[in-house]
Amino acid sequence: MRDLCKAWDAKATLRFGAPRFKKRGEGDALRLPQDCRCDGKAGLVQLTKLGAVRLRHSREAPGALKNVMLRQEGGRWVASLQTERELDVVPSAADAAVGLDFGAATTIMPSSGAPIELPKRIGRYERRSRRLALAVSRKKKGSANRKKAVSRLAQCHRRIAAIRRDFLHDATSQLAREHALVAIEDLEAKRMTASAVGTREAPGRNVRAKAGLNRTILRNGWSMARSMLEYKAARGGVMLMAVPPAYTSQECSACGHIAAENRKTQAAFACVACDHVENADRNAAKVILRRGQEIGSDGRPASTAGYAGTYACEGGRLKPPRSRPRSAAPARPVGLAVAGTTPGAERSWNLHS
Ligand SMILES: [Zn+2]
Repeated sequence: MRDLCKAWDAKATLRFGAPRFKKRGEGDALRLPQDCRCDGKAGLVQLTKLGAVRLRHSREAPGALKNVMLRQEGGRWVASLQTERELDVVPSAADAAVGLDFGAATTIMPSSGAPIELPKRIGRYERRSRRLALAVSRKKKGSANRKKAVSRLAQCHRRIAAIRRDFLHDATSQLAREHALVAIEDLEAKRMTASAVGTREAPGRNVRAKAGLNRTILRNGWSMARSMLEYKAARGGVMLMAVPPAYTSQECSACGHIAAENRKTQAAFACVACDHVENADRNAAKVILRRGQEIGSDGRPASTAGYAGTYACEGGRLKPPRSRPRSAAPARPVGLAVAGTTPGAERSWNLHS
């Protein structure tokens, strides 16, 4: 019921379609929200109505078990265990600050240091997935061979997703470990899905990225990276700043001049006011960092455990949802729209891992 409620809310606010009925073989997943127990030592999970099921742990799940999500992946059933525990968050030991630009020519461009790139081997799997998709299209509908081809394609997609997820975990862990402040653009899912159909608010942002990476992948990677950064920052006492994304690609990081002419080509940034020349993504990352620091120095401590988390700043979220959600959603705090935390409030952290 909870998931259904969420789906109807998403229809009203995010402009997804109405929830559809499940089909066999599509989205084979169910959530068990109560009466589940997990015995890691015995390798057993006790599920509602199913009883004890043998389980192979990929990693330890410390804390009290809250939810078990079961889903089918390539003929195997996977259980995601959601647990709850208290964590003591201490301020980050690092004192560096970094701004991140996601996804034009490089996967993640930090404001200083080497660009963070998806592993090259992902391209090989992407080429393979195109070939496999072609093979599916040649098979007769409803045939057994088509089914086999579909499962081969799905396996390839899973591999790509696994490589990306692994890469993003690595990258975001390192970023959260080495910095006290991480600034990112406050892009919205709605805006990003709109860009997929061709409206370009920020030129250069959605142009086809390097070979083998399509927009969908970058977009998915982006929101995944953000959610990882959110919880890793909160856990590590790192301040994560989500800054307004307007004109980050056109603003000069040296003098602050904003002009579309600054961006002659996709890759190069050349300021028309001060002759500052730089890699376009690097420039954008520096602009993002500066905006993050400006918000950070705005009467709030730069990084303390109590304040750690994400601050989405004013103006970052431009429009309220067009219509009200069906269920009574809790009112958002006025002023700072905050993703993840309440500013100024000392609170304990319930982290779901
Ligand atoms: Zn300039």
